[in-house]
Amino acid sequence: MSFMSEPIRVTRFAPSPTGALHLGNARTALLNFLYARQAGGRFLLRIEDTDAGRSTDAYLAALVDDLRWLGLDWDEGPDVGGPAAPYRQSERTGLYADFQERLQVTGAAYPCYCTPAELELSRKALLAAGKPPRYAGTCRELTAAQRRDREARDLASTLRFRVRPGDTVAFDDFVYGPQRFATDDIGDFIVRRADGSAAFFFCNALDDALMGVTHVLRGEDHLTNTPRQILVLGALGLPVPAYGHVSLIVGDDGAPLSKRHGATSLAELRAQGYLAAAVRNHLFRLGHSTSLQGVLAPDAMAAAFDRRHLGRSPSRFDIAQLGVWQREAVHALTDDEFAQWAGAALPPALEPAARAAFIGAVRPNVLFPLDVRAWAEVVFGAAPHLSADAEAVVRDAGGGFFDAAAAAAAASDNDLAMIAAAIRDATGRKGPALYKPLRLALTGLDHGPELAPLLRAMPRATTHDRLKRYAR
Ligand code: GLU
Ligand code: ZN
Repeated sequence: MSFMSEPIRVTRFAPSPTGALHLGNARTALLNFLYARQAGGRFLLRIEDTDAGRSTDAYLAALVDDLRWLGLDWDEGPDVGGPAAPYRQSERTGLYADFQERLQVTGAAYPCYCTPAELELSRKALLAAGKPPRYAGTCRELTAAQRRDREARDLASTLRFRVRPGDTVAFDDFVYGPQRFATDDIGDFIVRRADGSAAFFFCNALDDALMGVTHVLRGEDHLTNTPRQILVLGALGLPVPAYGHVSLIVGDDGAPLSKRHGATSLAELRAQGYLAAAVRNHLFRLGHSTSLQGVLAPDAMAAAFDRRHLGRSPSRFDIAQLGVWQREAVHALTDDEFAQWAGAALPPALEPAARAAFIGAVRPNVLFPLDVRAWAEVVFGAAPHLSADAEAVVRDAGGGFFDAAAAAAAASDNDLAMIAAAIRDATGRKGPALYKPLRLALTGLDHGPELAPLLRAMPRATTHDRLKRYAR
């Protein structure tokens, strides 16, 4: 046994607050959280808000709220602080300037004075010649005098990273396996934009290094960015984290997840009444296989997390499967949690015993607070309106049927077995011929929660009135 311990695992979620938190990003956050928790490591939240035009505080607040709702917590972040603060990139511009300066001084980066129009022209020419549309290298070898001349003309400049030609960047993606990229396909890329803001390749990689991130787990769309980021860190002499990329989430038809598939953001699912446990369990299984069945609590999920079980093929978001998790999650709620979830759908001021009876009766039949509201209306609302067919079934049962039922209900405190026995004695009916008219008279419906608990939940006077309506 070795006493050399593994360095502590540090993961992060690095969203841009430019919109609602999408399911793909929510899954990325969850997986990073689990990957850190599984190893007793640290999980960071870093806000990538360098795009001042599109990032808003409102999106940031919603993001934090959504992540907390999902059950995630982080050891460092904009709201909790930490040793690498600040955790919003918009507050780290001084730091970025220092490191950009360092790149420039060592010659690892150089100012580029090409205008957007010139770059576009060169791009088109390269494409027309059937070549990859990389930066042509126009400003790469400018002499000091040429640079001074351009500065004197007050030309706006970007800062470009110098990529060594004819080289290869190789890394071992901890999901996709060994990767190799030819630097000739990369071309010199921008680390500082003309407006002075730091470019993604640069600040994303720099912050991972400065924040001590050891494992970057993110969407597959970033796989081809990784070699650029490794080059930047190498030039700065900073540690390179391990990178792993997960496949994207697609709809049940295999197409990228979009509005067409229904809810695509966490906030929408939440507003519909999906429980965090259901969403968490579906997201966990999207692209991460596990032999464990059933709803897993976050701790169990963290224990079950295995990066080798992360998938490389697109994972299908399946609203039906989410419904299965939702059913299990509703089942697992305590009565208090159920009441909180149902909110205004639950009649206010129910006695504790009545509330428990109602929740017990309808729980197997509800997926959303809307369903709770519908059953509350049936149990506590006005007497149901019966369809013509239902009315015929009830009339056919006869007045004696309901005389017996009403009397037995009153005498037995709504006990179904006693009510059924009384009806059987009075009419000789049993099975569906007994239960169908009884259910119809009580609820107006031919389906629904089991009758025994439903009767326990229904106020006695209500039960009596509904039965008496059809008595002699
Ligand atoms: N802000 C980037 C994004 O949201 C972060 C990518 C990463 O995780 O490295 O796509
Ligand atoms: Zn240039």
